[in-house]
Amino acid sequence: MFRPLRIPPTPWRSWLSLLIGCAMATQAFAWGSQGHEVVAAIAWRGLQPKARQEVARLLALESGQTLESIATWADEHRSAATGAWHYVNFPRDTCSYEPLRDCPDGKCVVAAIARQQAVFASHASDSERFKALKYLVHLVADVHQPLHAGYADDRGGNRFQLRAFVRGSNLHALWDSGLLHQMELDNTALVALLQSLAPVAYGRDLNVVHMAQESCRIVALADFYPQGELSDAYVQRFTPVVQQRLALAGARLAAMLNAAVVTD
Ligand SMILES: [Zn+2]
Repeated sequence: MFRPLRIPPTPWRSWLSLLIGCAMATQAFAWGSQGHEVVAAIAWRGLQPKARQEVARLLALESGQTLESIATWADEHRSAATGAWHYVNFPRDTCSYEPLRDCPDGKCVVAAIARQQAVFASHASDSERFKALKYLVHLVADVHQPLHAGYADDRGGNRFQLRAFVRGSNLHALWDSGLLHQMELDNTALVALLQSLAPVAYGRDLNVVHMAQESCRIVALADFYPQGELSDAYVQRFTPVVQQRLALAGARLAAMLNAAVVTD
């Protein structure tokens, strides 16, 4: 996470770029920690009293945990068995979702969210439901990161190299954290900004397939894959998209948890 800094001219800016580069290099698999934390913070604010009480009760199973602090647990506990839970791949020519083709054996983010929703809403043990909560808070954010619903041939943009913010990077890392960090907002300021965005029309759509398809359609935009050095125009065009995806993920996560507790 990066706090807003007023940066003097070089050489400090160069050093900071280097530090940011190192941090981003470790975050090549999902929204960076800031993205996950702000989605969780927005969701927490959107919980209705009954759901908030239940989420707080589960969080209390481990001392000091908050919805934000568990938001990156699923990345920290990735394994060969769970790695595919964080994304779904679409063919390059369509964003239609076909489970047998796009989610074989339920190994994709769409099916993983459905499974964790079912556990969270069930009468399973507290520890099982807490684990489901850890997955939900993370995976609902992931499915809103466009490149978690991209293409297998470039591994969701991880193999698409580019230069951004005076350093080498790749498209996936740019969308995980690069576009976020260039805003130079701390979590509190970023959450306030995201909550000030007018709720988008489809914010109430809790169909996970649609969430993945929205992400796929962003990746399919003609200008999504930048050419050459990242331009200011690209940053200006897609920073609002990043903001919208994070805001949507937070609002939808809250609505999903509210619905699960109501029907419990
Ligand atoms: Zn992830």
